[in-house]
Amino acid sequence: MALIVQKFGGSSVADAARVANVANRVVETARSGNRVVVVVSAQGDTTDDLIEKAAEINPDASKREMDMLLSSGEQISIALLAMAIEKLGHPVVSLTGWQAGFKTNNVYGNARINTIDTERIQAELDRKNIVVVAGFQGLNKYDDITTLGRGGSDTSAVAIAAALHADKCEIYTDVDGVYTADPRIVKDAKKLSEITYDEMLELASLGANVLHNRSVEMAKKYNVKLEVKSSFEKIDGTVVKEVCKMEKMLIRGVTRDNDVARIAVIGVENTPGIAFRIFSALAKENINVDMILQSVGRNGKKDIAFTVTKAHKDETLAVIDGLKEQLNFEEVNCRDNLSKVSIVGAGMVTNPGVAAKMFEALFAADINIHMIATSEIKVSVLINVNNAERAVQVIHDKFNV
Ligand code: ADP
Ligand code: ASP
Ligand code: MG
Repeated sequence: MALIVQKFGGSSVADAARVANVANRVVETARSGNRVVVVVSAQGDTTDDLIEKAAEINPDASKREMDMLLSSGEQISIALLAMAIEKLGHPVVSLTGWQAGFKTNNVYGNARINTIDTERIQAELDRKNIVVVAGFQGLNKYDDITTLGRGGSDTSAVAIAAALHADKCEIYTDVDGVYTADPRIVKDAKKLSEITYDEMLELASLGANVLHNRSVEMAKKYNVKLEVKSSFEKIDGTVVKEVCKMEKMLIRGVTRDNDVARIAVIGVENTPGIAFRIFSALAKENINVDMILQSVGRNGKKDIAFTVTKAHKDETLAVIDGLKEQLNFEEVNCRDNLSKVSIVGAGMVTNPGVAAKMFEALFAADINIHMIATSEIKVSVLINVNNAERAVQVIHDKFNV
């Protein structure tokens, strides 16, 4: 008897008919002789609606209270799905994240799972129940509710699969797999039958929100068999695994991330220790820095530019402002109408000229590049946000993926 974890995203449980569809699929899996744990997200746009509701009351609400509010969306979904499964005559129980034993760290709004105490889930499975678990949520050491960051239900599902040593973890969503680009942007994007954990992790971290990046990180670490599939059609999806068949594909995908703010600290002294002071001050505030560019020195001065997420923009500017005396910079410039467009593929390590090909596509489309970052399996460029979708399309065309 196999143990399968199935996760259904917000659009897959958006209304009564879709909840019934999910119930049917889950019960079918159970009746074919499997033990099933189901993880669900909040229905449709519920999480966004709750964020708006909070902003009407207090735009500066504490992260603790935001988590208390946002976790309620998933609680609605588990109860509704359990009711739909009851109606089909199969034993079922719904569990919140804390009932399911999710213990997290204390970072409200973006918590990491520390452990899952699986005793309750195991007991419910032993009672032959389908176990429906609320994604995206856990409890910290103060017994406060935490959430795992937007899109975090994928990570809940993979974490349960890892903790229970499940045979597989299926992520059901509103597309039928992982594509070479977001199929909503690039109409001729192709579905991948498989992708490596490393490539998927890069794609997810660079804006392909089809999987939460931490879910991929965890799947790799615990060797969870992961598949992205359609909630609506019964067809093969995309398998995420350690090693894939060698293909001729130079790149596996093109993606964009509009959640970037670029801060440029202009005219700092061209002396040692400047980068250290800036980035250690940001690290102390838990601000993650992504791309970094330092200019060539001139007249004893240099510029340092870097990107952070938009949510960290104001905090970053405050930190830099606090360093004014120490750094003696001329000015700080901030832009957030930008997008990071990236190509990802394990094939690029062994093939020279991949970056040049990407730049050529952008040049031909008259798109200016502000910053560039590369690693073994990705190249990212920072461009104006109004060019982002066109850039994804022209790069995709150029590589003919
Ligand atoms: P869910 O609510 O099921 O978690 P998400 O909206 O988080 O669904 O993720 C699915 C969406 O991810 C798709 O609707 C698609 O627009 C988007 N997406 C972005 N990049 C890709 C990609 N490379 N392949 C497939 N989907 C992608
Ligand atoms: N409901 C949460 C969100 O919208 C978690 C998830 O969908 O995975 O971000
Ligand atoms: Mg998602």
